[in-house]
Amino acid sequence: MKGNFPIEKFSNVETPFYYYDTQLLRETLATVNQEAGKYEKYHVHYAIKANANKKVLSIIRESGLGVDCVSGGEIRATLEAGFPAGKIVFAGVGKSDWEINLGLDQDIFCFNVESIPELEIINELAAAKNKVAPVAFRINPNVGAHTHANITTGLKENKFGISMEDMDRVIDIALEMKNIKFIGLHFHIGSQILDMTDFVALCNRINELQKKLFNRQIIIDHINVGGGLGIDYEHPNRQAIPDFETYFATYHKHLKLRPKQEVHFELGRSITGQCGSLISKVLYVKQGTNKQFAILDAGMTELIRPALYQAYHKIENITSEGPVEAYDVVGPICESSDVFGKTIDLNKVKRGDLIAMRSAGAYGEIMASGYNCRTLPEGYITEDFI
Ligand SMILES: *Cc1c(COP(=O)(O)O)cnc(C)c1O
Repeated sequence: MKGNFPIEKFSNVETPFYYYDTQLLRETLATVNQEAGKYEKYHVHYAIKANANKKVLSIIRESGLGVDCVSGGEIRATLEAGFPAGKIVFAGVGKSDWEINLGLDQDIFCFNVESIPELEIINELAAAKNKVAPVAFRINPNVGAHTHANITTGLKENKFGISMEDMDRVIDIALEMKNIKFIGLHFHIGSQILDMTDFVALCNRINELQKKLFNRQIIIDHINVGGGLGIDYEHPNRQAIPDFETYFATYHKHLKLRPKQEVHFELGRSITGQCGSLISKVLYVKQGTNKQFAILDAGMTELIRPALYQAYHKIENITSEGPVEAYDVVGPICESSDVFGKTIDLNKVKRGDLIAMRSAGAYGEIMASGYNCRTLPEGYITEDFI
């Protein structure tokens, strides 16, 4: 089964472009709210790094979610989209002074701090403004997520976070600082996680750390468990809305909370991933030795995930219902890695056919680059074609 696209309307716009199915996005957001809403103290922050398209952001804002930012530019985009600063969490291993100052000026909800030197600078900058910065420590829980090596973040050897051994010392330092308010712990173990046992392992680790804190009579108000819930790239239509019910229920079952503790989630891919597709046009069908190439007008400049992480995106010829043949689907960029897929079954391809790269709503448009002096792709939503 192919995706559902207003193909007749696509002929009026230049390819390549991103198309976002806003009905699916709205249903996904409603499901997130319904499932997280079953538990009193669960708060979801959308990880804006997955997709910061303004039309997409406006729909996410309507749903009432908070936002997880990893840069000052993302804080700006979040505020411009109308989200309240009080629902922004700000992570990142290398926050610049201006980014920290922006967060302080806007009174964001929390800085997720990843090192002692960073904590010292936040304390200094907050003092200069006579403010107290709310801070959570990102602890590296040394829990391995069963996902691609480039997108695991919670192992000891990753650059992210503070080690568990250093946690007590860092908290002691923070408690002494006049312009820091220590409010919680933050974790994020990786991305595209479909095996719930990874999240169970994280819960167990958080429970251990909480016990350690409790023994020191430290009770924190906020536990931020990060994001990472994956989507089905192989079958974008089978379960277009990820299983948020099981996801939140897993945390509810395994994460032990103290009275009044609030839990924060930072979901990116699972919210916008399935609603987006990259639409491109076939420029040439080229016969190679023992194979044929479908050469598209989109390349790694529009969707870098296949080149960057050998990621799989389902590819569909949405123009043709002809007999299926195998193609290597490639872009026009001068890089050998500019390949979307090898020996891909497609309905017979001819010049001018439209090709959809499915499940490209997260880490797609936002990662587009101008390499080869290319123009950044437009992003359209369903409403643009009505
Ligand atoms: C990227 C990121 C997320 C979102 O990850 P997804 O896999 O898209 O859900 C959440 N938190 C932090 C700190 C991140 O860096």
